[in-house]
Amino acid sequence: MQSTTSTNNSGKRPPSKLGLLLLAAAVLLLALTVPQLQQNSRLTRQLHTLQAEQRVAAEANAAYTAAYQSTHQQLLYLQELPQQLQQLEADFAADIRALEDDIRSGASDKKIAYLTFDDGPYNRTADFLKVLKENDAPGTFFVLGKPAMKDDYLPTYAAGHSIGNHTYSHQIRQGIYLSVDHFINDITKLDSFLADMGIETQISRFPGGSATTSKKAAIAERLDELGYGWVDWNVSTHDAATGGCTAEQALENVKYTTADYEKIIVVLMHDFSAASLEALPDIIAWLRGEGFILLPLYYDSVMINKG
Ligand SMILES: [Zn+2]
Repeated sequence: MQSTTSTNNSGKRPPSKLGLLLLAAAVLLLALTVPQLQQNSRLTRQLHTLQAEQRVAAEANAAYTAAYQSTHQQLLYLQELPQQLQQLEADFAADIRALEDDIRSGASDKKIAYLTFDDGPYNRTADFLKVLKENDAPGTFFVLGKPAMKDDYLPTYAAGHSIGNHTYSHQIRQGIYLSVDHFINDITKLDSFLADMGIETQISRFPGGSATTSKKAAIAERLDELGYGWVDWNVSTHDAATGGCTAEQALENVKYTTADYEKIIVVLMHDFSAASLEALPDIIAWLRGEGFILLPLYYDSVMINKG
C-alpha cells in the first residue's frame, strides 16, 4: 500500500539529491558557458573586423606599392633624361658637323645659316623667341650676366636654342681687354652664373668681335684651355650701328653681306634691336629662299674657332 501510494505520487515527489546536483551542475555549466560563448562570439566578430581591416590595408598597401613603383620608375626615367638629352644633342651636333664637312668638300650643295643674337637677355628677348618659334627656326644667343633678368635665360635654353658666353660684363673699354686675365675672369664669371641655372656652354664670342683686341691669340689660347671655342660673324643686320637701323635696312644688310660663295654663314643680330625683331621673319624667309638651313651653333661646328 505504501509503495502503491508512493508510486502514484511519483510526479510530485521532490527531486532526489542526485537530480538536484545534476541540475545545479547544468545551471552552473550553462552559467559558465554562456559568457564564454558570448565572449567567443565577440572575439569572432573582432577577428572578422580585423580580417576585413587587414584586407583593406593589404589592398591599400598593394595600391601604395604600385604607386611607389610607378613613381620610382618615373624618377629613374627622369634621372636618365639629362643623359639622353645630352646624347641627343651630341648626336645632333655631330650630324651638323658632318653636313658642314660635306658642304665644304662639295659633297653637299646645301647651305647653313646660324642666326646669332648678342648682349641679351633684354625685354625684347621673349619676342625674338616667339618669332623664332613661329618660324620653327633655331638660333644661338650670346648672353651677358644680368642677375636682375635671371628668369629670362632658361626659356631660351629650354626652347632648344644654343647659349653662348659673351662675357659677364661686356665692358669693352677699361674692362675685359685690359689683360688676358681680365677677359678670362669675365668669361668664367658668366660660366658660373650660367652653370648655377643648369646652363652649360662651350662657345663664346668676343664683345665687339675678336678684332677689337690685340690680345686675341693669347685669349683664344686660354679659352681653349677652358674648353671654350669662339666665333665672330660673316653676316650682320648692322642693328648696333650708331643711330640704329630700320627693319628694311636690317633685311637689306643681311642680303648685302651674304656673299654668294659663302655656304655657311653666321648672322649677327642683337636682341635689343626692334629693327632686327621686325625684320626677323623676312630675314628667315629670305635665307630659306636662298637655300639656307637654319641651325643652332655647337662647339663641334667648323665655324667655332678652337684655340
Ligand atoms: Zn656684344
